[in-house]
Amino acid sequence: MRLLVVEDEKDLCDTIAKVLYDSGYEVDTCYDGEEALDYILTEEYDLIVLDLNLPGMDGMEILKELRQRNEETKVLILSARGQIADKVEGLDAGANDYMEKPFHLQELEARIRSLTRRKFVQKDVCLQCGDIRFNTRERAAYAKGELVSLTRKENGILEYLLLNQGRPVSQEELIEHVWDSSVDSFSGSIRVHMSSLRKKLKAGLGYDPIVNKIGEGYKIGGDSKV
Ligand code: CA
Repeated sequence: MRLLVVEDEKDLCDTIAKVLYDSGYEVDTCYDGEEALDYILTEEYDLIVLDLNLPGMDGMEILKELRQRNEETKVLILSARGQIADKVEGLDAGANDYMEKPFHLQELEARIRSLTRRKFVQKDVCLQCGDIRFNTRERAAYAKGELVSLTRKENGILEYLLLNQGRPVSQEELIEHVWDSSVDSFSGSIRVHMSSLRKKLKAGLGYDPIVNKIGEGYKIGGDSKV
């Protein structure tokens, strides 16, 4: 899951980013409205935390621009403007949720978890595919009920494949959703993480649940064994 936090109060922005990173998300940050729009138009985010009062460009304008080309990305507006009119305007413009400042970081994190899951109509915190279970709150994977010790990147890859089960996911798509923009994203490094993930799952399950479809990408679930 890849997130962008747009907030011009740098301390707040960095704090939010750290909390979300610690919860297992890949997070980019941005302190300026115009720069945020550049990021949004060139990168692929699963969710954007968006402040409204920003230098450069207003958050509401950013939201409207985004919605003209993309309905998929979730947007959570974060704003000190507490008036009901702003809330309605934001939701009408296509925001998925709205939080007033000041707020509790724990609540923000919970709402983000709920929004990123809602996209896939997943009701509880666990993603499941056959004998594999991934707990999105604990960031822990289980094979046949036994904990599989995975690295941060391996967790990210597994979660993304489980959210898209039955569909092949290309390396490029994995890079967009599981890596943040600060990390060098050579496909070689994906192969290393992927191969390690498959080995660990195979050790727990007795078979490799991930299929590599040449030219299409990696797939979990669907017609494979799990
Ligand atoms: Ca602001």
